[in-house]
Amino acid sequence: LTSAFGVAAARVMTCDPSVASGALSVIEEGVVVVDAGRIAYVGPRAGAPEGVSIEEFGERVVTPGLVDAHTHACWVGSRHAEYAARMKGDGYQAIARAGGGILATHRAVAAASEECLVQALVARLRRMASLGVTTVEVKSGYGLAAAHERKQLAAMARARDAPGVPAIVATLLALHALPPGVTDRAAFVARVAGAFVPSVAAEGLARFVDAYVDEDAFSVAEARAVAEAARASGLGVRLHVDQFADVQGAELAASLDAASADHLEHVSASGIAALARAQVVAVLLPVASFTLGQPPPPVAALREAGVRLAIASDSNPGTAPTESLTLAMALAVRLYALSPDEALLGVTRHASAALELRDRGVLRVGARADLVVWDLPHEHAIVQPWGVAKTLSVRVEGREIFRAAGS
Ligand SMILES: [Zn+2]
Repeated sequence: LTSAFGVAAARVMTCDPSVASGALSVIEEGVVVVDAGRIAYVGPRAGAPEGVSIEEFGERVVTPGLVDAHTHACWVGSRHAEYAARMKGDGYQAIARAGGGILATHRAVAAASEECLVQALVARLRRMASLGVTTVEVKSGYGLAAAHERKQLAAMARARDAPGVPAIVATLLALHALPPGVTDRAAFVARVAGAFVPSVAAEGLARFVDAYVDEDAFSVAEARAVAEAARASGLGVRLHVDQFADVQGAELAASLDAASADHLEHVSASGIAALARAQVVAVLLPVASFTLGQPPPPVAALREAGVRLAIASDSNPGTAPTESLTLAMALAVRLYALSPDEALLGVTRHASAALELRDRGVLRVGARADLVVWDLPHEHAIVQPWGVAKTLSVRVEGREIFRAAGS
């Protein structure tokens, strides 16, 4: 254990039922020892290996690094005018028809260089890291046309090498809106499924394919064609479903064995049953429904059915104008009536499951040493201080990607 080091605190939230009891499996007066980017020990101080330098954080809490399983963080431009219109009462569809929404950001992304996208993304990811995020899913979907979608994915690949950023999971949001000028929907969908998805997979530019399945978006049949192409190319599937209407998107996600079904404000009882049977993770996006003034998804029914609940920021320039996963957690508790325990599992173990990542979201021997030391006395306090960063130290594979000034 020559390169090993440790952190000690009054509470170590492991999220690993094999380590300690309780919903979050908290070890009191715990130590986490890291060696070569992996967790080498997690447990009480008394059992910690000897000869390891341990940093003492006292009456604080250590958690797994947070996982933001749904973001659109690769964008440039500003949609402040549209936000003002929305607050005056214009609806999502009215804004979209007036050239706002996705198409507004599409124009900015299409005009931007790859370098410009990298810079905006890296700056945004660093701010996310300061809030405790160590893994972030980032979707394309503003490029719309193949060349610009590829530019977004290339920017994500380059952002990975920048210092101070969380790990990135890239998703090709293959069906988000029709590119301007495209009138033949069927030909567009066929081109995406038949050519673009396989080429993105072959180049290793994305791990998942996503589609926006809703009224005024893409149909179940269109999304199925693209998702099946993703499966055939070895990529995973995640879907935006049932945000504005029940179009049986959840049933589609279940039939495709998707990793996640996201939004779900209008999911039906049969959709919930299908998600439970197929063990698809529900990704809840409370910032978006808050911005849009929508009622919450049927959280009690999802919980009752045994569907795992993840929470994500949905970070995007229109309907979720935030970079803060902790804000999404606070809203999940306040608006969706999740317990603090559920909110915490929703950004750790369940969020990792939503990304099909088995090596993080828990503090256990052998897992990646992705962890956060919080300047808070208890894990339940993480859902409370809205809009402020309360992290002291954030580590990805043991490397510190953020440290609070003066700590
Ligand atoms: Zn989204």
